Amino acid sequence: MYSSRPGRVGATTERVLDAQQALQGMTVSNITHVELLPAGTSPATDGAAPGSTVKKTLATYAPIPFVDQRDAAILVLYQDYEPINDAARAAFLPVAGVFEVALLLMCVGLIPALRRVTKRLHNQMAEIERRAYFDDLTGLPNRTLFHQSIEAALLEARDDKESVAVLMMDLDRFKEINDTLGHHLGDALLQELGMRVAQVLRPDDTLARLGGDEFALLLHPADENSALQLINRIQEQLLQPFVLGGLPLSVEASVGVAIAPAHGTDHATLLQHADVAMYVAKATGTGWSIYDPEKDTNDARQLALVGELRRAIERKELALYFQPKVDLETRAISGVEALVRWNHPEQGLLMPDVFVPLAERTGLIRPLGRYVLEHAIMQCAGWRAANLDLHVAVNLTMPDLLDLDLPSYVDGLLQRHGVPPSSLELEITEGTISADPVRVRHVLTGLGEMGVRLAIDDFGTGYSSLAYLKNLPVDALKIDKSFVMNMERDASDATIVRSTIDLGRNLGLEIVAEGVESDAAWAALRAFGCTYAQGYFISKAVSVEELEQLMADGPWSTQPVDEPSTGEVESLDRTAIVA
Ligand code: C2E
Ligand code: CA
Ligand code: CA
Repeated sequence: MYSSRPGRVGATTERVLDAQQALQGMTVSNITHVELLPAGTSPATDGAAPGSTVKKTLATYAPIPFVDQRDAAILVLYQDYEPINDAARAAFLPVAGVFEVALLLMCVGLIPALRRVTKRLHNQMAEIERRAYFDDLTGLPNRTLFHQSIEAALLEARDDKESVAVLMMDLDRFKEINDTLGHHLGDALLQELGMRVAQVLRPDDTLARLGGDEFALLLHPADENSALQLINRIQEQLLQPFVLGGLPLSVEASVGVAIAPAHGTDHATLLQHADVAMYVAKATGTGWSIYDPEKDTNDARQLALVGELRRAIERKELALYFQPKVDLETRAISGVEALVRWNHPEQGLLMPDVFVPLAERTGLIRPLGRYVLEHAIMQCAGWRAANLDLHVAVNLTMPDLLDLDLPSYVDGLLQRHGVPPSSLELEITEGTISADPVRVRHVLTGLGEMGVRLAIDDFGTGYSSLAYLKNLPVDALKIDKSFVMNMERDASDATIVRSTIDLGRNLGLEIVAEGVESDAAWAALRAFGCTYAQGYFISKAVSVEELEQLMADGPWSTQPVDEPSTGEVESLDRTAIVA
């Protein structure tokens, strides 16, 4: 090694990596620290020599090629790094500055895009939340959020020793409005109603839509008085007619109130009790009512049942039972009467007497009537597919017959299920006919023209004139069971039965005797010339499976009506099924 530092001149065994790379033809540079000795001194063997300084240096290893000879020598040059550093910095800084500015501009440019993305994500989250907690139609809180709001209010109220009011509000006759004006306008009505009610709330009150025309309110804090004040303000809002499709429409609502903690301390109890109160309001026509635990006896519980009935119809908890109607001459089962039962999840099988009259008073009778019609016609189609020609009778109430759409609804069902109109018989009572003769007659005439049969149910119990028998398309009279059941004991009941049969025959009507409970009644009716018998002597109303078993086991045949009669009447009591 030749060096400007005398101490390093001479042969060396030092293996310097950089030097080796330079010997292979590469120029290598790196920064090292070099010890500078004062002139005339030599490096110390251990530690730094006295007076020496350490300098940051750029060491460069450059190969020196000779002609035809590679790897001949390396030049190692140590340069003070400071001026190099300064020069590099002077050259680099403007470039770095430009880069920095460019980066900054890029970031600024990205901000709107980032903003947009964040906003979109935010909106999507908000939309998901809205769907989970708010009603699509009105934008009001839905059932889920309302339950949570009640629970939150209850917690707060408990700490502050305040009371909270939960109100259930249901429109009267909304279904009718919806059916007559169409869903579109029905929806518009609900939206408008939501807005009007929201206007009269206090800032902390909550209005929610629980579904259909069912709204609920949470007032916190609130007592009976403040709840009533709010109901008044709502009723005032409803005095103004709603203009829908150019038509002014008056809307009424029934409101039920439950107050916490007096009437319940959780959302389920409070809502159920507000429901009970609401049905009391509806049934009594008072517009509102406050839950009264003292009155939560049979009556109110039955009313609450109606609230459940609405859901029962949706959940298909209603079942149809069928009671056969037998030809007194041929003993053939010519038809069945569909009688509705409610498979209540807690209370078991409920009879129609418990819920049909209540449904009638609360506007629920129409969905119930349609449910029964649809399932009865479907069942009739099923029997027809199995080669059984069974006529099916369905009971209709007054609200059913005030529905101008009923004929087209029935027509649609019959066509959809391929059932001839003559296989369907509709039973109505005299009371129904006398209530609104014009409208009811219109509906009945429509049904009659389609070929659907019409029977007067419970005949003899109404006090109406019999004039309707010549004006309406009646096919059959069903003598009320009270006369038939008493026939053997009471001569005047026997006379009523006999003259009704005569009257019907003279008018060319079929006569069905209901409540046939004994073979004596059977024999008497046969002697009087009655057409059909229905009653426990033959069978009570039974499920489809039981009815099919009964038809298979006999003694009642399923022959057509004009088949010759078989067997003796006297032998029947052996096999009669008595409930
Ligand atoms: P209804 O139309 O007069 O039905 C006859 C009722 O008498 C049925 O009671 C039936 O089980 C009962 N019955 C039948 N044979 C005898 C008998 O030999 N002796 C006695 N004591 N009773 C007998 P159910 O099923 O409890 O129905 C009661 C009422 O409920 C019906 O009276 C009807 O007005 C109404 N109803 C039943 N199902 C429906 C329905 O689907 N829609 C409507 N709107 N009303 C219905
Ligand atoms: Ca009936
Ligand atoms: Ca009857």
